[in-house]
Amino acid sequence: MKWINRNDDESNFEDRRGRSTGKRLAAGGGIGTIIILALYLFTGQDFSSVADMFTGGEAQTETVDPSRVGENEDLKVFSLGVFNSANDVWTKIFNEQMQLEYRKPTFVTFTDQTMSECGGASGATGPFYCPGDEKVYIDLSFFHELATRFKAPGDLAMAYVTAHEVGHHVQKLLGLTDKMQQYRGRISEEEYNQLSVRLELQADFYAGLWARYAEAMNIIKLEEGDIESALGAANAVGDDTIQKQAQGYTVPDSFTHGTSAQRMRWFMKGYQTGDYKQGDTFNAETL
Ligand SMILES: [Zn+2]
Repeated sequence: MKWINRNDDESNFEDRRGRSTGKRLAAGGGIGTIIILALYLFTGQDFSSVADMFTGGEAQTETVDPSRVGENEDLKVFSLGVFNSANDVWTKIFNEQMQLEYRKPTFVTFTDQTMSECGGASGATGPFYCPGDEKVYIDLSFFHELATRFKAPGDLAMAYVTAHEVGHHVQKLLGLTDKMQQYRGRISEEEYNQLSVRLELQADFYAGLWARYAEAMNIIKLEEGDIESALGAANAVGDDTIQKQAQGYTVPDSFTHGTSAQRMRWFMKGYQTGDYKQGDTFNAETL
């Protein structure tokens, strides 16, 4: 994949690399807590408010590890470019085809762990979108794992992941996330998982749609092997493939993201049709 027109705008970007919030201190205590407490005591601030800070779970303190600020900068530049291009693509589709206003999400990069409206996140969580704060969270080291552990290297593999998460934001704007939320607890777990699969496959479709539009809008130029690279990622993160690797067998009822074949199929469908209306996975008879 080559950039023709990369948008490096950082106005919807939150860089938390090398930073950890006080919540971890609140839970873990430790030397950081002691130093901060000592600091507050020495500066003569009201101690009760400091105590509240640690017991209330709303700690605002932040520690910075300078050695990790700016970590994986090349991956940040790349995925921010994909993120911005996805917003440009969706702004166009919303305006021209849906007659709707597109509200941009925020892209958050972090190292190891961070907080979101959806709870704490760790690198082990993998990239995710939080509908509560409308932010896409990515620990950039995940992309190394994607290339090594998941054996899905390449630019478009990484781009697919980022565009998929922006796809979840589109679903939030279109009211699908809320609809899903209403079903939670009212239907069986198996039924809920099936809906979740449809939601995820639609985000895959949207990732394919992004690739098609980004190419047509002269933002990127795809090269030989790019689509295969994206499909490699879709294949690697299929529920069946992951379960087989982890436990040696699959439990289809527990699938929440779809099989490798389904994920590849819906990505391809988005890329080939270039028509958002073809991505109605919720009413599709076959997935
Ligand atoms: Zn997803």
